[in-house]
Amino acid sequence: MGVDRRTALKGMAVAGAALLASGPGDQAREPHPAPSDAVGMLYDATLCIGCKTCVVACREANHMPPERTALGGGIYDSPISLDGQTRNIIKAYEGADGKSSYMKSQCMHCLDPACVGACMIGALQKREHGIVTWDGSRCIGCRYCQVACPYLIPKFTWDKAIPKIVKCEMCSQRIAEGKIPGCCEVCPRSAVIFGKYDDLLAEAKNRLKKNPDRYYPKIFGEKDGGGTQVLYLSKAGISFTDLGLPALGDTPVPELSQEIQHAAYKGFIAPAVLYVALGTVIWRNKRAEAQGKEEKP
Ligand code: SF4
Ligand code: SF4
Ligand code: SF4
Repeated sequence: MGVDRRTALKGMAVAGAALLASGPGDQAREPHPAPSDAVGMLYDATLCIGCKTCVVACREANHMPPERTALGGGIYDSPISLDGQTRNIIKAYEGADGKSSYMKSQCMHCLDPACVGACMIGALQKREHGIVTWDGSRCIGCRYCQVACPYLIPKFTWDKAIPKIVKCEMCSQRIAEGKIPGCCEVCPRSAVIFGKYDDLLAEAKNRLKKNPDRYYPKIFGEKDGGGTQVLYLSKAGISFTDLGLPALGDTPVPELSQEIQHAAYKGFIAPAVLYVALGTVIWRNKRAEAQGKEEKP
């Protein structure tokens, strides 16, 4: 008897229900330090002019086609949110006093990534330089990473026969060639810059100290949700929640993903059965891919 994607996902949904019933973890999780070779990005909203050059460069760097967006009778490459074709987006937000600001969104490359903890078969991993990457040869499309990510970053290519998880991988392919991420290379205002994590954090602190009237008095990502390798500075009067970022506190987020795994292992679903189901789905997907056919649920 075959096990299809729907059956496997149903089993995992049951595990998710067990998670909800199981409540929060017993122990607080200690923050993870940045890896010694960590790199990152610093986005300074006071410098961004919303030109979206970085959005185009991100497409080019990742060989992703323009997204056809219908607006007012014309077709534009103007996505309104991150999705299966867009790893980087610029949006405009308004603060409480009517001030507006641009905001760049992409994966935050968390120090303790909830997506990595949620992925039971290691398709998402924190690798060299602390960059969080996705391995399509392992992914079985369960989308637990989407549920776990507090920033709603991983997207799914629903329109593909073999769907993929899509997110910023900090242009690791370019970094391996000695280049910097596409978005950081092209920004005409240096509103987003790339560098060693420690240097970027020092730079952000320096900017706050030198120009306290220019900035909201906090570096987002220094500690939020356990810390992120993408750091943010915002305009004075515009908080990070005004920019659409969640108020996470300093506690690392991955308790949720740990609980997903614990729920699955608590005898609710025997791990062996779960893995056989998932392995079968992978095998069927690979076979369908080789034959150029879509698996029917
Ligand atoms: S922002 Fe989301 S997808 Fe990116 S590393 Fe953190 S948890 Fe994972
Ligand atoms: S680092 Fe690369 S993938 Fe990430 S937002 Fe910038 S250009 Fe896009
Ligand atoms: S290229 Fe730079 S200035 Fe233009 S939207 Fe992107 S971050 Fe902002």
